Amino acid sequence: MTSSIKKAAAVAARSLLPRKPHHAQWMITRRCNYRCLGCNVWKEQDQRELPTEDVKRGLDILKDLGIAEIVLSGGDPLLREDAEEIIEHASKLFITTVYDNGSMAAKKIEALRNVDFVAISIDSLDPEKNDYMKGVPGAWETAVETVETLHKEGINVAVTPTISKLNLHEIVDITNHFSQKGIPLWYCLYSFDMISDTNQLFRIGKMNDEFVITDNQAMAKLCDTLIEMKKKDRNILITTKLLKAVKNLYLNDKRNWNCRALDNFLVVDHLGRIAGCHIHKFASSIFDLPKIWKSQEFNSLRKTYRECKQCTYLCYIFYSLHGSPYGNLTLARDQWKNARFLLKKNNSKHLNSAKPQ
Ligand code: SF4
Ligand code: SF4
Repeated sequence: MTSSIKKAAAVAARSLLPRKPHHAQWMITRRCNYRCLGCNVWKEQDQRELPTEDVKRGLDILKDLGIAEIVLSGGDPLLREDAEEIIEHASKLFITTVYDNGSMAAKKIEALRNVDFVAISIDSLDPEKNDYMKGVPGAWETAVETVETLHKEGINVAVTPTISKLNLHEIVDITNHFSQKGIPLWYCLYSFDMISDTNQLFRIGKMNDEFVITDNQAMAKLCDTLIEMKKKDRNILITTKLLKAVKNLYLNDKRNWNCRALDNFLVVDHLGRIAGCHIHKFASSIFDLPKIWKSQEFNSLRKTYRECKQCTYLCYIFYSLHGSPYGNLTLARDQWKNARFLLKKNNSKHLNSAKPQ
């Protein structure tokens, strides 16, 4: 059995485990070389990081806990000098996505060969506008070149625009532009940390009036349009269920999900602290998992989070909506199906390869 098939089998098996989390996002660094207007990370950087061996040990712990899918983010995770080693380790264990602001991935191609997705953030087709949002001149050109280079190299790159007031009316064009080149799209939704708890794990989204979506009808219409486009365009990876939930949120101010933080998903910070999401106080250290996972303390936090309505971060909504064992399995299956360009690559180049997919 090749390691890719072994990985698929292991991921599917973990996806079916009841009362286990499916997804983790690990912000492995708090360093960033960009200055995005809607983000706090770059203003609150921290040079401290877990050593490589501790990150690898933490990844093993997450696997033992039942995590099937991981996002490595930051800051920019590729700024870590040991990114290659960490990514290689993660890719063997999980469906692995690496986020990059577009500045680093082309320089670290070898580190990315085995990941399932590299998500590159591009927010506009207008270079000037994109660079304004990123706070870095030349960001657009670098990111577009990065996407093209990765795509040519057969690496599974996806573009992930953050939907905000500034680009709401451009999302369809951005989608068509990249999809026509065979590049899939996922989306983020501009959000900011609504509470300012001094114990918060760390801050990400910064309140910025320029970004806050005020035209709820337009947002709902965008959801409808993407749902329609999805029927013909397999490069649109966002799920219909998620688009319907977002539409309902903007149109009727209703949440048709309960938050599954610290239940179906969790986050880990650059120091190995874990929380249900970054907005709440850290709950433990990754090195105390899985012992603490079933504790009374965690159960009571889960109850609180299920009632929480304090954010609209798309990834958290996504893993709340798709949070049953069946949902997780469907998700894992869909993600592997969505990685068809990867399978295509393997068919042509690595059919009998033992490389993990
Ligand atoms: S949004 Fe990402 S790339 Fe931009 S400053 Fe924040 S962490 Fe860096
Ligand atoms: S809704 Fe969930 S993810 Fe958002 S702040 Fe509350 S607990 Fe965190």
